[in-house]
Amino acid sequence: MSAPSATLKETLPPFRNEPYTDFSLPENRSRMQEALARVRAAFGREYDLILGGTSLKADEKLISRNPSAPDEIVGVHQRATPEQARRAIECAWEYFPVWSRVPEEKRAGMLLRAAEILRRRKMEFNAWLIFEAGKTWPEAEADVSEAIDFCEYYAREMLRLAGPHPMLHFPGERDELVYLPLGVGVIIPPWNFPLAILVGMTSAALVAGNTVVIKPSSDTPTIAAKFVEVLAEAGFPEGSFCFLTGSGAAIGDLLVSHPKTRFVAFTGSKEVGLRINELAARHQPGQIWIKRVIAEMGGKNAIIVDCEANLERAVEGVLVSAYGYQGQKCSACSRAIVDQAVYDEFLERLKTRTERLTVGPANDPENYMGPVINESAMRSILNYIEIGKHEGRLVTGGGRAGGPGYFLQPTIFAEVRPQARIFQEEIFGPVLAVTPARDFDEALALANNSEYGLTGSVDTTNRDKIRRAREEFFVGNLYINRKCTGAMVGAHPFGGFNMSGTDSKAGGPDYMLLFMQAKAIGEKLD
Ligand code: NAD
Repeated sequence: MSAPSATLKETLPPFRNEPYTDFSLPENRSRMQEALARVRAAFGREYDLILGGTSLKADEKLISRNPSAPDEIVGVHQRATPEQARRAIECAWEYFPVWSRVPEEKRAGMLLRAAEILRRRKMEFNAWLIFEAGKTWPEAEADVSEAIDFCEYYAREMLRLAGPHPMLHFPGERDELVYLPLGVGVIIPPWNFPLAILVGMTSAALVAGNTVVIKPSSDTPTIAAKFVEVLAEAGFPEGSFCFLTGSGAAIGDLLVSHPKTRFVAFTGSKEVGLRINELAARHQPGQIWIKRVIAEMGGKNAIIVDCEANLERAVEGVLVSAYGYQGQKCSACSRAIVDQAVYDEFLERLKTRTERLTVGPANDPENYMGPVINESAMRSILNYIEIGKHEGRLVTGGGRAGGPGYFLQPTIFAEVRPQARIFQEEIFGPVLAVTPARDFDEALALANNSEYGLTGSVDTTNRDKIRRAREEFFVGNLYINRKCTGAMVGAHPFGGFNMSGTDSKAGGPDYMLLFMQAKAIGEKLD
């Protein structure tokens, strides 16, 4: 008799973060350049909607452009009609009974295959991110690596949650707890992590046994279409996912309020998140559940630079957190709160470093910063810069950088008061407000003076102040003596407090539970 074969759970190595490609090596640089050329050659292709495995077109098209060179069309997509959106939910609903019964191990195996495909196509995905989202090489590499991490991590999480779970057995009974999927989920990601967040929300939902309708951002639909190819290649059945492009404003309400929608996984702005939360709470005729909303929203993140900081480290931490991906990360530092004892020196050093940053097309690896995502984002950020000129002292930047793309100078405003709009409102661009603090008490109060609570960081060599920051700095992701961006799956489960969202802690051990419901089964033994 042959021994029973080992299960996936037994053979899978422990999770580890995907290593980054080292672009200082000539062979990696040339692989990246080749991928950029290949992807450029595929510009302008038309992509269809996918509903229950069927490809469909719509009369109206959505054009996705390269923000470094807006004349270049990256992809042509469909603007789904409300009727197509309704059909997408119906298709996902019909397939749910089949997909939800596929064993956990099989679903996890598909997700691991998706990770493998992403790994194999990493340079190509980097190139799509560079051209469609305006990410520089290292930012694109981090986005794709995080997407791979989510697949690897949630596959393992599903195997863990598949049980068995240790239970107290009531005398005379066998008692169990099992996790079931919820139903049809609507996945609504933002454009700023167009692969990682899309993949994270989609893969957690699917591996848990839910069917999904994926509605990507209108700024980054091509990257999403490419991931949908990966899902199909990895073996996810056609019925398990629908791909629906179009304007969020035109079809979003319908998707959220459909009575067969069981949950919404959203990441994006506070305004849209609150609207989704409100709409989803309204009971629709025929709806037999309370919809679950996972909503991760904006930030107004602060780094505290204490009088006992390591100033060089603090300057670097603020610089990369404020200007990495042009300040368009939800975790970006947009407020530096600096003890008055080191304020002048910090500002001087930061100004010098900021003025050395290069801005230009994202496909050129010499540029530290690429473009902002689109024209309306650029106008909105420039408007905030004008507001800032009345609210603070312009230290550097303050306008457009040269070139046809949506390029902005990295900008610093100093002596910004806490009531200022540029201190309170999410700008989502390369604009930093610097504010002096009398002491650590005031610095903490200023940092907490926000409706948001996503990330924050403190630079200090004083252990007691570190202890106080751990207790009093009210953010979902607190960092000590490092940048406030760059959360790693498994190490820094991600999600914020207050208006930053539902604190879902993506990439952590609590996340998958949001996509499932637990059923307790007690069986009386004779
Ligand atoms: P957004 O809110 O404009 O759009 C997010 C998504 O919602 C897009 O797919 C969009 O098409 C869709 N949408 C728009 N209107 C809709 C509606 N009425 N119904 C349903 N869907 C609708 O945000 P954005 O500009 O794409 O992303 C930037 C924002 O995302 C920033 O505020 C940033 O802080 C936030 N963000 C948060 C996190 C986090 O984890 N907390 C991560 C990344 C980005």
